[in-house]
Amino acid sequence: MSRHPKTKKSLGQHFLKDGNMISKIVDAIPASPDDTVIEIGPGAGALTNLLSERFKNLSVIEIDGRMVEFLEETFPGLEIIQKDVLKFNWSDVNTEGGPLHIIGNLPYYITSQILFSLLEKREHLTSALLMMQKEVAERIVAEPRSKEYGILSVQTRLMSTPEILFDVPPQVFSPPPKVNSSVLKLTFNKPPLSCLDKNLKTVVRMAFNQRRKKLSNALKRLDAELPSGEFDFNLRAEALSPEMYEKLTARLEQLGTFA
Ligand code: SAM
Repeated sequence: MSRHPKTKKSLGQHFLKDGNMISKIVDAIPASPDDTVIEIGPGAGALTNLLSERFKNLSVIEIDGRMVEFLEETFPGLEIIQKDVLKFNWSDVNTEGGPLHIIGNLPYYITSQILFSLLEKREHLTSALLMMQKEVAERIVAEPRSKEYGILSVQTRLMSTPEILFDVPPQVFSPPPKVNSSVLKLTFNKPPLSCLDKNLKTVVRMAFNQRRKKLSNALKRLDAELPSGEFDFNLRAEALSPEMYEKLTARLEQLGTFA
């Protein structure tokens, strides 16, 4: 294999160089050989190499034209989509009704945005295996009343089943990132919400943007009669479980709050 182009910090390019870690990550994908698999940010192909041996319906999405050229030479016949993953529409993928799995050692500067875009299109997805900053993974699986619990935890936990599989130290990357990493698995097995995603987002954002205040204050800008008999608005944002946020949003919808 020829040498890959020089890594660019601005694109979050930290490439995996440890064969054992690469196998461990690819082994964790809950997919069968015939399933469709899409890799986010293949870079120079550290994961792609093994993925292409295991999955015949593999496509990759990479923004960096230099890496795309390198991948074309290294993996002739591989479907390479040169695009900003945030502009990619997951519902456009034709799986002929079969499962769709996402995998990626993510560019860390847009981890949350990628997560939200996957959650938004969850009905088209089966699973996502994502390497991200350990701190972000911990926020996602955080329990109510903890410091890490927030918008990411509520939304991810209502829209998928998240699980941290293992941690990954900086030394297995070149160049090493400044933070520790974790591999997180999302399984998209949750039933549809009883409220609209966009209304849930509004309520959760409002609550956590003023997380030190009581909910009665934080939700003032909704300009709505809050159903105080049913929910305790003296609590702070972090005290409500993801399910309570869903219930509250559904009740506010019934009361015409977002009309
Ligand atoms: N998968 C490779 C590996 O594990 O060695 C590279 C992972 S590297 C952390 C992240 C990759 O995402 C880089 O190749 C980078 O160019 C790509 N990337 C960065 N921003 C992107 C974007 N907006 N859309 C698609 N790919 C992006």
